[in-house]
Amino acid sequence: MIIAIDGPAAAGKGTLARRIARDLGFAYLDTGLLYRATGKRVLEAGADPEDAEAAEAEARALEPGDLERPDLRTDAVAQAASKVSAVPGVRAALLAFQRTFAGHPPEGAKGAVLDGRDIGTVVCPDADVKLFVTASDEVRAQRRFKELQESDPDVIYARVLEEMRERDARDRSRAVAPLEPAEDAILLDTSDLNADEVFAKALDIIKK
Ligand code: C5P
Repeated sequence: MIIAIDGPAAAGKGTLARRIARDLGFAYLDTGLLYRATGKRVLEAGADPEDAEAAEAEARALEPGDLERPDLRTDAVAQAASKVSAVPGVRAALLAFQRTFAGHPPEGAKGAVLDGRDIGTVVCPDADVKLFVTASDEVRAQRRFKELQESDPDVIYARVLEEMRERDARDRSRAVAPLEPAEDAILLDTSDLNADEVFAKALDIIKK
């Protein structure tokens, strides 16, 4: 069984996906990490994330250890991720890994939960359940702001909101695999829900 969870930044996809995977005993893949790790490698190589050749080369050179790095959650890396992810060669380089994970989840798990932007539309168009998780811009920026504040007390809300909108706009408007709900995805607006309520609703949808 494959569960696809897509949506814009900080909509609560990761928390939800992890929880569903734990509850059902499924494997979980945060596909954003693949793009973040690629973006990070490009930055470290001193290249421009919009340089298609450099970005694709780094995506092809990704190693498992790149995904374990503790510094992938910064906004600088998120922006780089969103730039490299618009490069068709980068998406092509990362596709097989994601499909293999979904079809043959590690450690013999009975199913897989993948979260990202194009899981229901491109990576796993035949997924058994497709959720598109959203929340208002302000709610998402507020969540992200609180998260960032834990490591950086000087973080500014208005900048978080602006950067999030910029990244979402880039993700929605790219030519390849743009952020959009699959036709058969179920929309889940989490603006007025806490994590427990989101989980309960999602579980209800999956069980149906
Ligand atoms: O989900 P996360 O915020 O970690 O993703 C970082 C960036 O990676 C996104 O803004 C998006 O540009 C890209 N991404 C993508 N397709 C996915 C997952 C993430 O293009 N399936």
